[in-house]
Amino acid sequence: MKSNIIQENLCTGCMACNNICPKKAINIETGKDGFSYPKIDKSKCINCGLCKKVCPVLNNLKNNKNKIEVYSCKNKNDKIRMKSSSGGVFTLIAEYIIKQNGIVFGAKFNKKLEVIHDYTDNIDKLEEFRGSKYLQSKIENTYTNVKKFLIDGKKVLFTGTPCQVEGLLSFLNQDYDNLYTQDIICHGVPSPKVWKKHLEYKKEQNSEYPIHVNFRYKDILGWNNYQIKYIYSNHTEQVHHNEDPYMKFFLNNIVLRKSCYNCKFKSLARNSDITIADFWGIEKIDPKIYDEKGISAILVNSRKGREIFENIKQNLNISYAKIEDIIKYNSCINQSTKYNSSREKFFCDLEKNSYEKLIQKYL
Ligand SMILES: Cc1cc2nc3c(=O)[nH]c(=O)nc-3n(C[C@H](O)[C@H](O)[C@H](O)COP(=O)(O)OP(=O)(O)OC[C@H]3O[C@@H](n4cnc5c(N)ncnc54)[C@H](O)[C@@H]3O)c2cc1C
Ligand code: SF4
Ligand code: SF4
Repeated sequence: MKSNIIQENLCTGCMACNNICPKKAINIETGKDGFSYPKIDKSKCINCGLCKKVCPVLNNLKNNKNKIEVYSCKNKNDKIRMKSSSGGVFTLIAEYIIKQNGIVFGAKFNKKLEVIHDYTDNIDKLEEFRGSKYLQSKIENTYTNVKKFLIDGKKVLFTGTPCQVEGLLSFLNQDYDNLYTQDIICHGVPSPKVWKKHLEYKKEQNSEYPIHVNFRYKDILGWNNYQIKYIYSNHTEQVHHNEDPYMKFFLNNIVLRKSCYNCKFKSLARNSDITIADFWGIEKIDPKIYDEKGISAILVNSRKGREIFENIKQNLNISYAKIEDIIKYNSCINQSTKYNSSREKFFCDLEKNSYEKLIQKYL
């Protein structure tokens, strides 16, 4: 017998429940839409209730009453900035932690081009975590690993989507001086199953799978035009702009997790220490700082966020900004993405149709 912890359309897949269960009674099943959903195996469950208690959707979040500070900024190192999605701020935050013998958790590709959460204490390995990967990452036992490092006294930076940060904070259920958290302004996460189909389609077209993908390639058209770059093992490269079907599905809001259309974690009062984002609209707000290599918005949400900011700012070109500017040009800060009414039909068709058919029908 199996049962849900929470209604599927509300579950963000943060996996706090799976990390807390003392009996390993939660199985992770893949839904028809390709997202992971926790299911309680009744034969192992002792009804301790921890999984429901830890769920950040079912419970009230802490209410951050700090005054949020907002900046636009660019990493002074243009090489790093070109390899990052916007202004290259993540790398500086991560370096600040690693230089204090700390550990950084984030999302990276594995060899199969799935996105997973992993960690490093090595600045040279940060490249793997750099850049946005537009699909939901697998968290697995990440929060348990974070806790082990915290108890060992290591400084830890956890980076992820807002729901993953809240999942971690809820799992830990106590403040750790050595924990730092960084989230993003989040449009929503596309389905890993659609990504897998997309990679199979790329293989059919090119007779091999890509071995490297950059979702935010900037070289030709610059930062604020979505370009995706694929590299194959024979060194062939492809750069697509508006015509890439995966990015079109993502930006048409048809392949997101259901919880992303009704997200409780988009907020101006976040519990993460620092929020990073693309500074959309910066060319109108502050043309002096604008260039095509990418500009980040930073929201400093807490005392620890301020500590990070004070320690990385010498490596940034910075301007003050207003929260109203972010709200105006980046609605995902506090508003859910609009539901695409073809979503359910799309996922039914995904089961039985070829990717080409889906492209014809939905794009
Ligand atoms: C799914 C998704 C949706 C986003 N939606 C928006 C949006 O609507 N508006 C906006 O302004 N910005 C959005 N971003 C954030 C933006 O794309 C940049 O990540 C951000 O501007 C920081 O860029 P950077 O140059 O400082 O660092 P980068 O080096 O580009 O940042 C990398 C950071 O992103 C994390 N990350 C990458 N992929 C994932 C993933 N799949 N899941 C969890 N964490 C991940 C890494 O762990 C690392 O911390 C989104 C990012 C993702 C992954
Ligand atoms: S009630 Fe307790 S034992 Fe049962 S699934 Fe939830 S956390 Fe695990
Ligand atoms: S939109 Fe909300 S629910 Fe979806 S991944 Fe982002 S934070 Fe999580």
